[in-house]
Amino acid sequence: MLIQELSREESLDLLARAHLGRLACAHKSQPYVVPFYFAYDNEYLYSFSTVGQKIEWMRANPKVCVEADEVVNPQQWVSVIVFGRYEELPNIPEWRVAREYARKKLLERNAIWWEPGYAKTILHETERPLAAFFFRIHIVEITGRRATPEPVMPPGKRPSMTGAIGGEWLQKILRPVRKQT
Ligand SMILES: Cc1cc2nc3c(=O)[nH]c(=O)nc-3n(C[C@H](O)[C@H](O)[C@H](O)COP(=O)(O)OP(=O)(O)OC[C@H]3O[C@@H](n4cnc5c(N)ncnc54)[C@H](O)[C@@H]3O)c2cc1C
Repeated sequence: MLIQELSREESLDLLARAHLGRLACAHKSQPYVVPFYFAYDNEYLYSFSTVGQKIEWMRANPKVCVEADEVVNPQQWVSVIVFGRYEELPNIPEWRVAREYARKKLLERNAIWWEPGYAKTILHETERPLAAFFFRIHIVEITGRRATPEPVMPPGKRPSMTGAIGGEWLQKILRPVRKQT
């Protein structure tokens, strides 16, 4: 298997195709990650949510990280990691245009775009207030990687497991597994 870097353009293309990612935030040295839906447009990831732990944490510390991927199998995948900044699109007239834009972008991705962020949530037998709003992640930095299977070589030409790739350490790791089978 070969892992290569994606260009910035290729990484942004993946964000444009994907709509499910993992959003990580941190507060007082404690990381927190949740799955979320987003719509990418021009350096921003748009999303929708009710207030809960992730929103409170991102308000306190707007530095976030987002991961998205397309996985075919363990040898064939692409993934991107975004370092970004949380921005709220508050329910006030000054932000109406930005909110409308977010709504339009999310609708383009999914007809029921609001549902994952606006679900009735019962925690400890108490229903959480449904105060929903839009937010976006401004992409500060993005990296991407692609894994591809290496071309299949005829038996005589396959590199030795003790050769340059893998080396003796791979033999050591594989040895106990082989003994068990
Ligand atoms: C495929 C998918 C897409 C989603 N898309 C969105 C979206 O677009 N917008 C959105 O707001 N939410 C989305 N969610 C739900 C999201 O992952 C969170 O569960 C939800 O937003 C509540 O997060 P919170 O920080 O407000 O948690 P709170 O309701 O405040 O709960 C806090 C605690 O509950 C636990 N918890 C919270 N969420 C989860 C979870 N998913 N799994 C396990 N434990 C959890 C954690 O331990 C956390 O400490 C999606 C979930 C899935 C699976």
